[in-house]
Amino acid sequence: MNSGEFRRRGKEMVDFVADYLEGIEGRQVYPDVEPGYLRPLIPTSAPEEPDTFEDILNDVEKIIMPGVTHWHSPYFFAYFPTANSYPALLADILCGAIGCIGFSWAASPACTELETVMMDWLGKMLKLPEAFLAGQVGEGGGVIQGSASEATLMALLAARTKVVRRLQAASPGLTQGAIMEKLVAYSSDQAHSSVERAGLIGGVKLKVIPSDGKFAMRASALQEVLERDKAEGLIPFFLVATLGTTSCCSFDNLLEVGPICNEENMWLHIDAAYAGSSFICPEFRHLLNGVELADSFNFNPHKWLLVNFDCSAMWVKKRTDLIGAFKLDPLYLKHSHQDSGLITDYRHWQLPLGRRFRSLKMWFVFRMYGVKGLQAYIRKHVRLAHEFECLVRQDPRFEICAEVTLGLVCFRLKGSNKLNEDLLERINSAKKIHLVPCHLRDKFVLRFAICSRFVELTHVQQSWEHIRQLTTDLLRAQRD
Ligand SMILES: *Cc1c(COP(=O)(O)O)cnc(C)c1O
Repeated sequence: MNSGEFRRRGKEMVDFVADYLEGIEGRQVYPDVEPGYLRPLIPTSAPEEPDTFEDILNDVEKIIMPGVTHWHSPYFFAYFPTANSYPALLADILCGAIGCIGFSWAASPACTELETVMMDWLGKMLKLPEAFLAGQVGEGGGVIQGSASEATLMALLAARTKVVRRLQAASPGLTQGAIMEKLVAYSSDQAHSSVERAGLIGGVKLKVIPSDGKFAMRASALQEVLERDKAEGLIPFFLVATLGTTSCCSFDNLLEVGPICNEENMWLHIDAAYAGSSFICPEFRHLLNGVELADSFNFNPHKWLLVNFDCSAMWVKKRTDLIGAFKLDPLYLKHSHQDSGLITDYRHWQLPLGRRFRSLKMWFVFRMYGVKGLQAYIRKHVRLAHEFECLVRQDPRFEICAEVTLGLVCFRLKGSNKLNEDLLERINSAKKIHLVPCHLRDKFVLRFAICSRFVELTHVQQSWEHIRQLTTDLLRAQRD
Protein backbone atom coordinates (compact mmCIF):
# COMPACT_ATOMS: atom_id res chain seq x y z
CA MET A 1 0.00 0.00 0.00
CA ASN A 2 1.50 3.34 -1.03
CA SER A 3 0.58 6.70 0.43
CA GLY A 4 -1.96 7.36 -2.33
CA GLU A 5 -3.83 4.18 -1.55
CA PHE A 6 -3.46 4.86 2.17
CA ARG A 7 -5.23 8.20 1.76
CA ARG A 8 -8.12 6.48 -0.01
CA ARG A 9 -8.34 3.46 2.27
CA GLY A 10 -7.86 5.58 5.35
CA LYS A 11 -10.94 7.61 4.47
CA GLU A 12 -12.86 4.42 3.80
CA MET A 13 -11.77 3.03 7.13
CA VAL A 14 -12.90 6.17 8.95
CA ASP A 15 -16.31 5.77 7.26
CA PHE A 16 -16.39 2.11 8.22
CA VAL A 17 -15.65 2.98 11.85
CA ALA A 18 -18.20 5.81 11.96
CA ASP A 19 -20.83 3.53 10.37
CA TYR A 20 -19.99 0.80 12.87
CA LEU A 21 -20.37 3.06 15.88
CA GLU A 22 -23.42 4.87 14.53
CA GLY A 23 -25.14 1.60 13.83
CA ILE A 24 -23.91 -0.34 16.84
CA GLU A 25 -27.29 -0.26 18.54
CA GLY A 26 -28.66 -2.44 15.75
CA ARG A 27 -26.13 -5.21 16.33
CA GLN A 28 -26.76 -8.03 18.77
CA VAL A 29 -24.62 -7.09 21.76
CA TYR A 30 -23.31 -10.61 22.40
CA PRO A 31 -22.27 -12.97 19.59
CA ASP A 32 -23.82 -16.34 18.72
CA VAL A 33 -20.56 -18.15 18.00
CA GLU A 34 -19.13 -21.22 19.73
CA PRO A 35 -15.46 -21.64 20.76
CA GLY A 36 -13.29 -22.39 17.73
CA TYR A 37 -15.72 -20.71 15.30
CA LEU A 38 -13.06 -18.67 13.55
CA ARG A 39 -10.34 -21.10 12.47
CA PRO A 40 -12.40 -22.88 9.79
CA LEU A 41 -13.36 -19.51 8.29
CA ILE A 42 -9.84 -18.43 7.35
CA PRO A 43 -6.93 -20.10 5.51
CA THR A 44 -4.61 -22.31 7.54
CA SER A 45 -1.59 -20.11 6.77
CA ALA A 46 -0.73 -16.59 5.65
CA PRO A 47 -1.19 -15.89 1.91
CA GLU A 48 1.89 -16.21 -0.31
CA GLU A 49 0.53 -13.54 -2.66
CA PRO A 50 -0.93 -10.34 -1.23
CA ASP A 51 -4.68 -10.03 -0.68
CA THR A 52 -6.50 -6.79 -1.47
CA PHE A 53 -7.86 -4.30 1.02
CA GLU A 54 -11.41 -4.96 -0.22
CA ASP A 55 -10.99 -8.64 0.56
CA ILE A 56 -9.89 -7.82 4.07
CA LEU A 57 -12.66 -5.32 4.76
CA ASN A 58 -15.26 -7.78 3.47
CA ASP A 59 -13.85 -10.42 5.77
CA VAL A 60 -14.10 -8.09 8.74
CA GLU A 61 -17.88 -8.10 8.34
CA LYS A 62 -18.05 -11.81 7.46
CA ILE A 63 -15.55 -13.32 9.89
CA ILE A 64 -14.73 -10.87 12.66
CA MET A 65 -17.99 -9.07 13.43
CA PRO A 66 -19.98 -12.27 14.05
CA GLY A 67 -17.55 -13.02 16.88
CA VAL A 68 -17.40 -9.56 18.42
CA THR A 69 -18.94 -8.66 21.76
CA HIS A 70 -20.00 -5.06 21.16
CA TRP A 71 -18.66 -3.30 24.23
CA HIS A 72 -19.90 0.05 22.97
CA SER A 73 -23.45 -1.07 22.34
CA PRO A 74 -25.94 0.83 24.50
CA TYR A 75 -27.17 -2.60 25.61
CA PHE A 76 -23.80 -3.58 27.08
CA PHE A 77 -23.93 -3.37 30.89
CA ALA A 78 -21.23 -5.91 31.79
CA TYR A 79 -17.93 -5.54 33.67
CA PHE A 80 -17.04 -1.85 33.76
CA PRO A 81 -17.02 0.59 30.85
CA THR A 82 -14.10 0.75 28.47
CA ALA A 83 -13.55 4.15 26.96
CA ASN A 84 -14.26 5.03 23.35
CA SER A 85 -14.26 8.48 21.77
CA TYR A 86 -13.58 9.92 18.35
CA PRO A 87 -10.75 12.23 19.49
CA ALA A 88 -8.99 9.23 21.07
CA LEU A 89 -9.43 7.13 17.92
CA LEU A 90 -7.89 9.93 15.85
CA ALA A 91 -5.02 10.38 18.29
CA ASP A 92 -4.34 6.65 18.03
CA ILE A 93 -3.88 6.99 14.26
CA LEU A 94 -1.34 9.73 14.85
CA CYS A 95 0.36 7.67 17.55
CA GLY A 96 0.69 4.83 15.06
CA ALA A 97 2.09 7.14 12.42
CA ILE A 98 4.74 8.73 14.62
CA GLY A 99 5.38 5.22 15.87
CA CYS A 100 8.15 6.18 18.25
CA ILE A 101 9.23 4.06 21.19
CA GLY A 102 9.50 6.55 24.01
CA PHE A 103 11.56 4.66 26.57
CA SER A 104 13.82 7.63 27.25
CA TRP A 105 13.60 11.37 26.82
CA ALA A 106 16.04 11.24 23.92
CA ALA A 107 14.10 8.42 22.22
CA SER A 108 11.43 11.03 21.43
CA PRO A 109 11.35 14.10 23.65
CA ALA A 110 7.74 15.05 22.84
CA CYS A 111 6.52 11.60 23.85
CA THR A 112 8.02 11.94 27.32
CA GLU A 113 7.30 15.61 27.87
CA LEU A 114 3.66 15.53 26.76
CA GLU A 115 3.07 12.56 29.06
CA THR A 116 4.51 14.36 32.06
CA VAL A 117 2.40 17.44 31.38
CA MET A 118 -0.79 15.45 30.64
CA MET A 119 -0.37 13.58 33.92
CA ASP A 120 -0.09 16.94 35.67
CA TRP A 121 -3.22 18.20 33.86
CA LEU A 122 -5.11 15.10 34.89
CA GLY A 123 -3.78 15.26 38.44
CA LYS A 124 -5.05 18.84 38.68
CA MET A 125 -8.45 17.81 37.32
CA LEU A 126 -8.67 15.37 40.24
CA LYS A 127 -7.30 17.92 42.69
CA LEU A 128 -4.51 15.53 43.60
CA PRO A 129 -2.19 16.93 46.26
CA GLU A 130 0.68 18.94 44.79
CA ALA A 131 3.10 16.24 46.00
CA PHE A 132 1.96 13.87 43.24
CA LEU A 133 2.59 16.33 40.43
CA ALA A 134 5.86 16.68 38.58
CA GLY A 135 5.52 20.44 38.05
CA GLN A 136 8.83 22.16 37.43
CA VAL A 137 10.64 20.97 40.53
CA GLY A 138 8.40 18.42 42.24
CA GLU A 139 9.54 15.04 43.57
CA GLY A 140 6.39 13.28 42.42
CA GLY A 141 4.95 12.70 39.01
CA GLY A 142 2.76 10.61 36.82
CA VAL A 143 3.28 7.88 34.26
CA ILE A 144 0.93 6.10 31.87
CA GLN A 145 0.92 2.37 32.50
CA GLY A 146 -0.79 -0.16 30.29
CA SER A 147 -3.19 -1.33 32.99
CA ALA A 148 -4.13 -0.99 36.63
CA SER A 149 -2.67 -4.46 37.15
CA GLU A 150 0.75 -3.22 36.05
CA ALA A 151 0.47 -0.15 38.26
CA THR A 152 -0.26 -2.29 41.31
CA LEU A 153 2.63 -4.60 40.50
CA MET A 154 5.02 -1.66 40.00
CA ALA A 155 3.96 -0.17 43.33
CA LEU A 156 4.38 -3.50 45.11
CA LEU A 157 7.83 -4.09 43.62
CA ALA A 158 8.97 -0.57 44.46
CA ALA A 159 7.67 -0.95 48.01
CA ARG A 160 9.45 -4.30 48.30
CA THR A 161 12.77 -2.81 47.19
CA LYS A 162 12.33 0.11 49.54
CA VAL A 163 11.68 -2.01 52.62
CA VAL A 164 14.47 -4.45 51.81
CA ARG A 165 16.95 -1.57 51.47
CA ARG A 166 15.72 0.04 54.68
CA LEU A 167 16.05 -3.14 56.71
CA GLN A 168 19.41 -4.00 55.21
CA ALA A 169 20.71 -0.52 55.99
CA ALA A 170 19.65 -1.04 59.61
CA SER A 171 21.04 -4.61 59.83
CA PRO A 172 23.70 -5.16 57.15
CA GLY A 173 23.82 -8.92 57.86
CA LEU A 174 20.24 -9.48 56.71
CA THR A 175 19.88 -11.19 53.35
CA GLN A 176 17.22 -10.19 50.87
CA GLY A 177 15.86 -13.75 51.06
CA ALA A 178 15.45 -13.57 54.83
CA ILE A 179 13.52 -10.32 54.53
CA MET A 180 11.36 -11.41 51.60
CA GLU A 181 10.19 -14.46 53.52
CA LYS A 182 8.67 -12.23 56.17
CA LEU A 183 7.15 -9.53 54.01
CA VAL A 184 3.40 -9.30 53.95
CA ALA A 185 1.09 -7.15 51.83
CA TYR A 186 -2.61 -6.40 52.45
CA SER A 187 -5.79 -5.63 50.61
CA SER A 188 -9.45 -5.98 51.44
CA ASP A 189 -11.39 -9.11 50.54
CA GLN A 190 -13.05 -6.99 47.83
CA ALA A 191 -9.81 -6.05 46.03
CA HIS A 192 -9.36 -6.91 42.36
CA SER A 193 -7.72 -10.23 41.53
CA SER A 194 -4.78 -8.33 40.01
CA VAL A 195 -3.71 -7.44 43.56
CA GLU A 196 -3.39 -11.09 44.50
CA ARG A 197 -1.48 -11.69 41.26
CA ALA A 198 0.90 -8.84 42.10
CA GLY A 199 1.64 -10.63 45.37
CA LEU A 200 2.27 -13.92 43.54
CA ILE A 201 4.52 -12.28 40.94
CA GLY A 202 6.32 -10.24 43.59
CA GLY A 203 6.92 -13.37 45.67
CA VAL A 204 5.41 -11.99 48.86
CA LYS A 205 2.52 -13.03 51.06
CA LEU A 206 -0.73 -11.22 50.51
CA LYS A 207 -3.39 -11.22 53.20
CA VAL A 208 -6.96 -10.12 52.76
CA ILE A 209 -8.65 -7.99 55.38
CA PRO A 210 -12.34 -8.81 55.90
CA SER A 211 -14.45 -5.88 54.73
CA ASP A 212 -17.34 -4.44 56.75
CA GLY A 213 -21.11 -4.49 56.09
CA LYS A 214 -20.68 -1.93 53.30
CA PHE A 215 -17.81 -3.92 51.73
CA ALA A 216 -15.21 -1.39 52.94
CA MET A 217 -11.86 -2.02 54.60
CA ARG A 218 -11.88 -0.45 58.07
CA ALA A 219 -9.21 0.30 60.65
CA SER A 220 -10.34 -2.21 63.25
CA ALA A 221 -10.16 -5.24 60.94
CA LEU A 222 -6.80 -4.10 59.62
CA GLN A 223 -5.37 -3.50 63.11
CA GLU A 224 -6.40 -6.94 64.22
CA VAL A 225 -4.56 -8.70 61.38
CA LEU A 226 -1.54 -6.40 61.68
CA GLU A 227 -1.13 -7.09 65.40
CA ARG A 228 -1.29 -10.83 64.82
CA ASP A 229 1.18 -10.72 61.93
CA LYS A 230 3.68 -8.53 63.75
CA ALA A 231 3.48 -10.81 66.78
CA GLU A 232 4.47 -13.66 64.45
CA GLY A 233 7.50 -11.72 63.25
CA LEU A 234 6.10 -10.85 59.84
CA ILE A 235 6.92 -7.50 58.23
CA PRO A 236 3.90 -5.54 56.91
CA PHE A 237 5.16 -3.40 54.01
CA PHE A 238 2.39 -2.72 51.49
CA LEU A 239 -1.33 -2.11 51.40
CA VAL A 240 -3.69 -1.64 48.47
CA ALA A 241 -6.80 0.39 49.24
CA THR A 242 -9.51 0.17 46.61
CA LEU A 243 -11.76 3.09 45.75
CA GLY A 244 -14.60 1.63 43.72
CA THR A 245 -14.29 -2.14 43.97
CA THR A 246 -15.01 -4.25 40.92
CA SER A 247 -17.81 -6.29 42.44
CA CYS A 248 -19.95 -3.53 43.91
CA CYS A 249 -18.06 -0.22 43.71
CA SER A 250 -17.48 0.02 47.46
CA PHE A 251 -14.83 2.30 48.93
CA ASP A 252 -12.18 1.33 51.46
CA ASN A 253 -12.02 3.80 54.32
CA LEU A 254 -8.89 5.71 53.36
CA LEU A 255 -9.08 8.13 56.25
CA GLU A 256 -8.94 5.16 58.63
CA VAL A 257 -6.43 2.86 56.96
CA GLY A 258 -4.18 5.62 55.57
CA PRO A 259 -2.84 6.80 58.93
CA ILE A 260 -2.17 3.19 59.96
CA CYS A 261 -0.08 2.64 56.84
CA ASN A 262 1.88 5.81 57.58
CA GLU A 263 2.49 4.82 61.22
CA GLU A 264 3.56 1.32 60.26
CA ASN A 265 5.82 2.57 57.48
CA MET A 266 3.81 0.63 54.90
CA TRP A 267 3.53 1.77 51.29
CA LEU A 268 -0.07 2.76 50.59
CA HIS A 269 -1.20 2.21 47.01
CA ILE A 270 -4.67 3.29 45.90
CA ASP A 271 -6.44 1.36 43.15
CA ALA A 272 -9.31 3.48 41.82
CA ALA A 273 -9.30 1.86 38.38
CA TYR A 274 -12.96 2.55 37.62
CA ALA A 275 -14.07 5.20 40.12
CA GLY A 276 -11.06 7.48 39.65
CA SER A 277 -12.55 9.20 36.61
CA SER A 278 -15.48 10.47 38.68
CA PHE A 279 -13.15 12.43 40.98
CA ILE A 280 -12.96 15.17 38.34
CA CYS A 281 -16.46 16.13 39.51
CA PRO A 282 -16.44 18.24 42.70
CA GLU A 283 -19.43 16.29 44.07
CA PHE A 284 -17.45 13.01 43.95
CA ARG A 285 -14.02 14.35 44.91
CA HIS A 286 -14.65 13.63 48.60
CA LEU A 287 -14.39 9.93 47.77
CA LEU A 288 -10.67 10.55 47.23
CA ASN A 289 -10.12 12.24 50.59
CA GLY A 290 -7.11 10.66 52.25
CA VAL A 291 -5.15 10.34 49.00
CA GLU A 292 -2.59 12.63 50.63
CA LEU A 293 -1.68 9.66 52.84
CA ALA A 294 -0.81 7.45 49.87
CA ASP A 295 2.52 6.74 48.22
CA SER A 296 0.99 5.89 44.86
CA PHE A 297 -2.38 6.36 43.22
CA ASN A 298 -3.78 4.83 40.06
CA PHE A 299 -6.91 4.90 37.94
CA ASN A 300 -7.84 4.05 34.38
CA PRO A 301 -8.84 6.88 32.03
CA HIS A 302 -9.30 3.97 29.62
CA LYS A 303 -12.30 2.86 31.65
CA TRP A 304 -14.45 5.90 32.16
CA LEU A 305 -12.69 9.01 30.86
CA LEU A 306 -13.13 8.59 27.11
CA VAL A 307 -9.47 7.73 26.43
CA ASN A 308 -9.44 4.45 24.51
CA PHE A 309 -7.52 1.50 25.95
CA ASP A 310 -4.73 1.51 26.99
CA CYS A 311 -4.20 4.39 29.35
CA SER A 312 -3.79 3.73 33.07
CA ALA A 313 -2.72 6.80 35.00
CA MET A 314 -0.34 6.27 37.93
CA TRP A 315 1.17 8.88 40.22
CA VAL A 316 3.83 8.54 42.88
CA LYS A 317 4.77 10.99 45.56
CA LYS A 318 8.47 10.20 45.30
CA ARG A 319 9.49 9.23 41.84
CA THR A 320 12.89 8.13 43.14
CA ASP A 321 11.09 5.24 44.87
CA LEU A 322 10.06 3.85 41.49
CA ILE A 323 13.09 4.81 39.50
CA GLY A 324 15.50 3.75 42.22
CA ALA A 325 13.96 0.31 42.36
CA PHE A 326 14.52 -0.68 38.75
CA LYS A 327 17.22 1.49 37.28
CA LEU A 328 19.64 -0.06 34.81
CA ASP A 329 21.65 1.93 32.30
CA PRO A 330 23.22 -0.11 29.52
CA LEU A 331 25.34 1.97 27.16
CA TYR A 332 22.98 1.66 24.20
CA LEU A 333 20.21 3.39 26.15
CA LYS A 334 22.32 6.18 27.61
CA HIS A 335 21.98 9.71 26.35
CA SER A 336 23.71 12.99 27.01
CA HIS A 337 20.89 14.64 29.00
CA GLN A 338 20.04 11.84 31.35
CA ASP A 339 21.91 13.09 34.36
CA SER A 340 20.67 16.65 34.08
CA GLY A 341 17.90 15.95 36.59
CA LEU A 342 15.44 17.84 34.42
CA ILE A 343 14.24 14.99 32.32
CA THR A 344 12.41 11.76 32.72
CA ASP A 345 13.30 8.39 31.27
CA TYR A 346 10.01 6.56 31.59
CA ARG A 347 11.58 3.14 31.05
CA HIS A 348 12.56 3.23 34.74
CA TRP A 349 8.92 3.68 35.75
CA GLN A 350 7.50 0.58 34.11
CA LEU A 351 8.03 -3.10 33.38
CA PRO A 352 8.59 -3.09 29.59
CA LEU A 353 11.19 -1.05 27.79
CA GLY A 354 9.01 0.02 24.86
CA ARG A 355 6.13 2.42 25.21
CA ARG A 356 3.70 4.09 22.81
CA PHE A 357 2.91 7.78 22.53
CA ARG A 358 -0.26 7.30 24.58
CA SER A 359 -0.42 10.84 25.97
CA LEU A 360 -1.60 12.03 22.54
CA LYS A 361 -4.93 10.37 23.28
CA MET A 362 -5.24 12.28 26.56
CA TRP A 363 -4.27 15.55 24.92
CA PHE A 364 -6.85 15.19 22.14
CA VAL A 365 -9.62 14.05 24.50
CA PHE A 366 -9.00 16.64 27.23
CA ARG A 367 -8.88 19.47 24.70
CA MET A 368 -11.87 18.40 22.64
CA TYR A 369 -14.18 17.65 25.58
CA GLY A 370 -12.85 20.16 28.06
CA VAL A 371 -13.13 19.37 31.75
CA LYS A 372 -16.79 20.38 31.59
CA GLY A 373 -17.53 17.90 28.83
CA LEU A 374 -15.83 15.11 30.75
CA GLN A 375 -17.73 15.99 33.92
CA ALA A 376 -21.01 16.00 32.01
CA TYR A 377 -20.21 12.53 30.68
CA ILE A 378 -19.56 11.11 34.16
CA ARG A 379 -22.67 12.76 35.57
CA LYS A 380 -24.86 11.34 32.83
CA HIS A 381 -23.71 7.80 33.62
CA VAL A 382 -24.26 8.27 37.33
CA ARG A 383 -27.73 9.66 36.68
CA LEU A 384 -28.62 6.67 34.50
CA ALA A 385 -27.43 4.28 37.22
CA HIS A 386 -29.70 5.99 39.73
CA GLU A 387 -32.60 5.79 37.26
CA PHE A 388 -32.03 2.05 36.99
CA GLU A 389 -31.80 1.78 40.77
CA CYS A 390 -35.18 3.53 41.09
CA LEU A 391 -36.76 1.14 38.61
CA VAL A 392 -35.43 -1.88 40.52
CA ARG A 393 -36.68 -0.50 43.83
CA GLN A 394 -40.19 -0.15 42.39
CA ASP A 395 -40.46 -3.91 41.81
CA PRO A 396 -40.88 -5.73 45.13
CA ARG A 397 -39.53 -8.97 43.65
CA PHE A 398 -36.04 -7.40 43.61
CA GLU A 399 -33.53 -5.98 46.05
CA ILE A 400 -30.57 -3.60 45.70
CA CYS A 401 -27.46 -5.24 47.17
CA ALA A 402 -24.99 -2.38 47.63
CA GLU A 403 -25.07 1.37 47.78
CA VAL A 404 -25.20 2.98 44.33
CA THR A 405 -22.55 5.69 44.32
CA LEU A 406 -21.45 5.91 40.69
CA GLY A 407 -22.44 4.01 37.54
CA LEU A 408 -22.92 0.49 38.92
CA VAL A 409 -26.08 -1.09 40.32
CA CYS A 410 -25.89 -4.45 42.10
CA PHE A 411 -29.29 -6.12 42.34
CA ARG A 412 -30.91 -9.53 42.64
CA LEU A 413 -34.21 -11.29 42.88
CA LYS A 414 -35.21 -11.87 46.48
CA GLY A 415 -34.71 -15.60 46.75
CA SER A 416 -32.09 -18.26 46.20
CA ASN A 417 -28.80 -17.97 44.34
CA LYS A 418 -30.09 -20.62 41.96
CA LEU A 419 -33.02 -18.40 41.05
CA ASN A 420 -30.66 -15.52 40.27
CA GLU A 421 -28.32 -17.75 38.29
CA ASP A 422 -31.30 -18.89 36.24
CA LEU A 423 -32.37 -15.29 35.65
CA LEU A 424 -28.90 -14.28 34.49
CA GLU A 425 -28.79 -17.30 32.22
CA ARG A 426 -32.08 -16.20 30.62
CA ILE A 427 -30.86 -12.62 30.26
CA ASN A 428 -27.58 -13.52 28.64
CA SER A 429 -28.98 -16.19 26.35
CA ALA A 430 -31.62 -13.79 25.06
CA LYS A 431 -28.65 -11.59 24.03
CA LYS A 432 -30.65 -8.39 23.97
CA ILE A 433 -28.50 -7.01 26.77
CA HIS A 434 -25.31 -8.27 28.38
CA LEU A 435 -24.59 -8.46 32.14
CA VAL A 436 -22.10 -10.24 34.36
CA PRO A 437 -22.63 -11.36 37.95
CA CYS A 438 -20.60 -11.09 41.12
CA HIS A 439 -20.58 -12.63 44.55
CA LEU A 440 -21.21 -10.42 47.56
CA ARG A 441 -20.47 -12.60 50.58
CA ASP A 442 -22.49 -15.73 49.83
CA LYS A 443 -24.96 -14.03 47.52
CA PHE A 444 -25.06 -14.34 43.75
CA VAL A 445 -25.70 -10.82 42.48
CA LEU A 446 -26.33 -9.25 39.08
CA ARG A 447 -24.28 -6.20 38.13
CA PHE A 448 -25.76 -3.51 35.90
CA ALA A 449 -22.93 -1.16 34.89
CA ILE A 450 -23.63 1.89 32.75
CA CYS A 451 -20.97 1.46 30.07
CA SER A 452 -21.61 2.83 26.60
CA ARG A 453 -21.04 6.34 25.37
CA PHE A 454 -24.27 5.85 23.43
CA VAL A 455 -26.50 4.71 26.28
CA GLU A 456 -29.60 6.82 26.99
CA LEU A 457 -32.48 6.60 29.44
CA THR A 458 -34.62 4.74 26.89
CA HIS A 459 -32.04 1.94 26.65
CA VAL A 460 -31.98 1.64 30.44
CA GLN A 461 -35.78 1.59 30.64
CA GLN A 462 -36.11 -0.95 27.82
CA SER A 463 -33.45 -3.13 29.42
CA TRP A 464 -35.28 -3.07 32.72
CA GLU A 465 -38.59 -3.96 31.05
CA HIS A 466 -36.79 -6.83 29.34
CA ILE A 467 -35.38 -8.07 32.68
CA ARG A 468 -38.83 -7.83 34.27
CA GLN A 469 -40.38 -9.83 31.45
CA LEU A 470 -37.72 -12.53 31.69
CA THR A 471 -38.29 -12.60 35.45
CA THR A 472 -42.02 -13.09 35.03
CA ASP A 473 -41.34 -15.91 32.54
CA LEU A 474 -38.85 -17.52 34.91
CA LEU A 475 -41.16 -17.36 37.92
CA ARG A 476 -44.03 -18.73 35.86
CA ALA A 477 -41.89 -21.59 34.55
CA GLN A 478 -40.94 -22.38 38.13
CA ARG A 479 -44.55 -22.53 39.26
CA ASP A 480 -45.64 -24.79 36.39
C1 LIG B 1 -10.81 -3.02 36.17
C2 LIG B 1 -10.10 -3.04 37.47
C3 LIG B 1 -8.76 -3.44 37.56
C4 LIG B 1 -8.02 -4.01 36.40
O1 LIG B 1 -7.72 -3.04 35.45
P1 LIG B 1 -6.70 -3.35 34.27
O2 LIG B 1 -6.33 -2.00 33.79
O3 LIG B 1 -7.44 -4.16 33.28
O4 LIG B 1 -5.54 -4.09 34.85
C5 LIG B 1 -8.14 -3.33 38.78
N1 LIG B 1 -8.78 -2.88 39.86
C6 LIG B 1 -10.06 -2.51 39.83
C7 LIG B 1 -10.74 -2.02 41.08
C8 LIG B 1 -10.78 -2.59 38.64
O5 LIG B 1 -12.08 -2.25 38.60
